[in-house]
Amino acid sequence: MEKVFASIITIGDELLIGQTIDTNSSWIGRELNAVGVWVKRRVAVGDMWDDIWEALDEESQSSQIILITGGLGPTADDITKPLLSAYFGGRLVVDEGALQNVKNIFRSLNRPMLDRNLAQATVPEGCTVIPNKRGTAPGMLFRKNERIFISMPGVPHEMKGMMTDSVIPLLQKEFIMPGISHRVLMTAGVGESFLAEMIKEFEEALPKHVKLAYLPNYGMVRLRLTATGANKIQLDQELDLFFGRLQELVKDYLVSNTGESLEIIVGRILKSRNQTLATAESCTGGYIAHLITTIPGSSQYFKGSVVSYANEVKENILHVSAATLLHEGAVSEETVRQMVRGALDVMGTDFAVATSGIMGPDGGTADKPVGTVWVAVGNVNKTVAQKFKFRFDRMRNIELTATNALNLLRKFILEH
Ligand code: AMP
Ligand code: MG
Repeated sequence: MEKVFASIITIGDELLIGQTIDTNSSWIGRELNAVGVWVKRRVAVGDMWDDIWEALDEESQSSQIILITGGLGPTADDITKPLLSAYFGGRLVVDEGALQNVKNIFRSLNRPMLDRNLAQATVPEGCTVIPNKRGTAPGMLFRKNERIFISMPGVPHEMKGMMTDSVIPLLQKEFIMPGISHRVLMTAGVGESFLAEMIKEFEEALPKHVKLAYLPNYGMVRLRLTATGANKIQLDQELDLFFGRLQELVKDYLVSNTGESLEIIVGRILKSRNQTLATAESCTGGYIAHLITTIPGSSQYFKGSVVSYANEVKENILHVSAATLLHEGAVSEETVRQMVRGALDVMGTDFAVATSGIMGPDGGTADKPVGTVWVAVGNVNKTVAQKFKFRFDRMRNIELTATNALNLLRKFILEH
């Protein structure tokens, strides 16, 4: 089956100088992939006439679909619309639907409308307008030499609405796509090289149309199986068999067979058992609590956190003993165990997790170098503690501590 190729062109000076991270392409890439479109290339260009023109020429050499974001704002730096008008050969004309949309938005905001806002309702003659339900700049579709070009706003929220409501359904109608299926599992506590050794034979025996990808991130490795072919139902059955075998091979490190994050998994377990959690965080400064509370419905199982950054707080609120802090130090097994007991006591939860460590770049000593972290989890009957040694910068050390703490917590809850 013929592949359908797409290119993504993102436009904006801010993307080139590192002011804005181009999240549009990664999001669009994922959406296209999910419906069977093969993303050939991603290109970022500045708000420069010749550069955009050249990118359009080049990408239409190899891709049937060219998706463009950015440069549609009402200000002079945004030149995508006049450029498209010149590229496809049409005057700018007012689109009635787009004009109504701009007027409605300004009416609902109760703000006066400027001429430059009205200009957002103009589009190159002959293009097909794609409605923007979330903003003033309409999307535009052009056809040339059997290529489809679609221009969308740079604002991620607006672009996403347009992709989901209009662009993806339109592409699915226009092209016959091959099937693509994915299965993702997540492991924790094992490095990717070690994993690769564990599943070497499995990987080598995979047929050509099934690919295995390793996606490491902060102490976790996601494994993704991707199969491509004409018959989606057959693909799914085949992939399920391989996926089952893969899960069996990595079962000692398997966290989930959905690729979901640890905070989701921990939350689901707690909710299903009607149990509660508290955190006592020193080196993570509330980051674990933050992760947990990003999940909707977390109020059902999460009671709170004591961010016990200073020793006084560890002592006065969590009742870590002064002697322990003096003799063992804040970064020690005994301290995190006492923090767990203090949190259970103060917040009355079924489980608690505690962290204390040296995140860097300063503060390390010979016996407790930067990256030394103690984590403990427990309930009223038992606490377990584990020491970690991370070797990264402050932010990554915090992320890694949170990931490992959540994984330790997950295992503890399942065992108790
Ligand atoms: P524009 O359509 O050029 O007016 O873009 C509006 C805003 O959207 C910019 O100021 C950026 O903050 C954001 N934006 C533009 N392109 C991207 C992109 N590729 N990824 C993420 N954000 C973007
Ligand atoms: Mg711009």
